[in-house]
Amino acid sequence: MDCLFCAIVAGDIPSRGVYADDTAYAFLDINPWHRGHTVLVPRRHVADLLEQPEGLGEIAPAINATGRLLVDRLGAQGLNLLSNAGAVAGQEVFHLHVHLIPRYADRPGMAGLMQRESDIDLDEVYRQLVAG
Ligand code: 5GP
Ligand code: ZN
Repeated sequence: MDCLFCAIVAGDIPSRGVYADDTAYAFLDINPWHRGHTVLVPRRHVADLLEQPEGLGEIAPAINATGRLLVDRLGAQGLNLLSNAGAVAGQEVFHLHVHLIPRYADRPGMAGLMQRESDIDLDEVYRQLVAG
């Protein structure tokens, strides 16, 4: 099967890992909406949360841990969780994933979610997360 996120989990495609445990892997989104935008996936291939709703339960502890880490280490004031299921909902990679999007006071509310930050330095964000 040709799956981008399976290849990232396997380490065949490089990623900036933020959190890992036995069931899940979280890494910085290559095209972030806000600083620290992270994608979290189950290690096993599940297409989306409509195909296997229980897939979300499996990765819930990892979502908690990653959300805490992002907010604490980046100094965010909030966090959005989002999982797109189906192309009509905006899903582009068909391996279940949750977006964890740290939020900051300069772009508040749901309207602010759509106001992407420009010029985010992924390596700098990664260093901040890894260094703690
Ligand atoms: P979707 O639209 O399927 O919910 O989200 C897929 C996400 O994966 C997008 O936000 C996109 O930027 C991210 N993405 C796509 N390809 C790669 C990649 O090769 N590496 C990383 N780190 N993120 C990717
Ligand atoms: Zn996959």
